[in-house]
Amino acid sequence: MDEEPQDDPYRASLDAAHRHALGWLDSVAERPIRPDVDAGGMRARLPRDLPEDGADPVAVVDELAEACGPGLMAMGSPRFYGFVIGGTYPAALAADWLVSAWDQNTGSRQPTPATAAVEEAAGEWLLDVLRLPAGSGVGFATGATVANLSCLVTARDAVVRAHGGDPVAGLQAAPPVRFLAGDAVHTSVVLAGRIAGLGAPRTVGADGEGRIDVAGLRRALAEGDGPAVVALQAGDVHSGAFDDFAAAIAVARDAGAWVHVDGAFGLWAAATRRLDHLTAGLADADSWATDAHKTLNVPYDCGVAIVRDEAAMAASLGAHASYLPAVANVWDPYDRVPELSRRARGVPVWAALRALGRRGVEGLVDGLVEAAAGLAEGLRAIGGLEVLNDVVFTQVCLAARDDAGTAALGEWLRDEGTVWASSSAWRGRTVVRFAVSNHGTDHEAVRRTIDAVARGADALGLR
Ligand SMILES: *Cc1c(COP(=O)(O)O)cnc(C)c1O
Repeated sequence: MDEEPQDDPYRASLDAAHRHALGWLDSVAERPIRPDVDAGGMRARLPRDLPEDGADPVAVVDELAEACGPGLMAMGSPRFYGFVIGGTYPAALAADWLVSAWDQNTGSRQPTPATAAVEEAAGEWLLDVLRLPAGSGVGFATGATVANLSCLVTARDAVVRAHGGDPVAGLQAAPPVRFLAGDAVHTSVVLAGRIAGLGAPRTVGADGEGRIDVAGLRRALAEGDGPAVVALQAGDVHSGAFDDFAAAIAVARDAGAWVHVDGAFGLWAAATRRLDHLTAGLADADSWATDAHKTLNVPYDCGVAIVRDEAAMAASLGAHASYLPAVANVWDPYDRVPELSRRARGVPVWAALRALGRRGVEGLVDGLVEAAAGLAEGLRAIGGLEVLNDVVFTQVCLAARDDAGTAALGEWLRDEGTVWASSSAWRGRTVVRFAVSNHGTDHEAVRRTIDAVARGADALGLR
């Protein structure tokens, strides 16, 4: 091939994107975290009508980057604590760019062997670092919501089958499936249950930190019989608390129930021996959902559905058609999530795990837990403020003497821009909620966070 090295539009537009991406990344740690323009204002910065004529790709990338700048939230800042948002490791981000460039529709192994194999390897490594049963099925979904859904659909079908029903005939033809969870069940599990036809879970109680009431679970299970699915939680979004897996799973097993664990960010506690007291029994469940875009710090989006019985997963989620290539006796990526076409989102997971190694993953989790403990200690020392939860993992809920003061503090912080934390309500009180999820949240970031909260407390007369 003796083609001239042409004026390559891919090279020029990727160069432009590269330049804008580095400009953004260079600014993230020190720019005000909050965006300056709201979504309505951002709409006004974009052309309203679709132009009749197209534009040069470099001009499109420049226009997009320039328009979006003021409306971007510095979610990758080490002092961003909103929701549960991880940062991004360099290897994972770069791998994500490759995924886009390769543009492999990673549904089945035969046409896309490279990305299918990388995802399989990433899945095996995940089971290893999270100390879950080797041989479990691992599917890469958009987030923990769809991972919870994937697991609950598999659970529903398995318990229906175990009671003589036929999942293909639908729930209308099956014995009723009981679906139970603790009172602090995450909204995504409720949504997944509804989509799966199980309805919202019946809640069986919880303690002050949000851990499922195991005696309440036993009583609720004893009230009926037939198929049952129990959803447990590793990591409450407010307290960070973990259910007592050993006790709850024993109770569920006695009733023949399937046990699912929503561990969107908390499943990662299993990567460190220091948190064995939180994760004891966790590996005895039947299915687990987690996010790689939270604790593992890969770019959005990446959730992970894990089911001990890989064949059950394929039976519920697999798609089959004469035109879809399948290799005998091996599960394809589309046998593990309710999606046929998708990007190879497991590849950045492989890159993050490869860059960290086992020790690095352990250090990541230990570092987040240590930062949360240091943050809680510093916040308590400010005076006039109270940490409401037992800080066992990465979540810290802060309150002033009254709800109005707490609400004002949350707004002051977000507006001042050094720190971003969500406001929420927990145990009947307004709280400012810190979720430590970014690998860059070090001692210095924690110190600056505590200083900012102290300034806010002074400005508002809270201490
Ligand atoms: C974030 C979260 C979810 C939902 O995960 P998405 O990735 O946002 O879909 C579910 N459960 C818990 C505990 C979470 O923190």
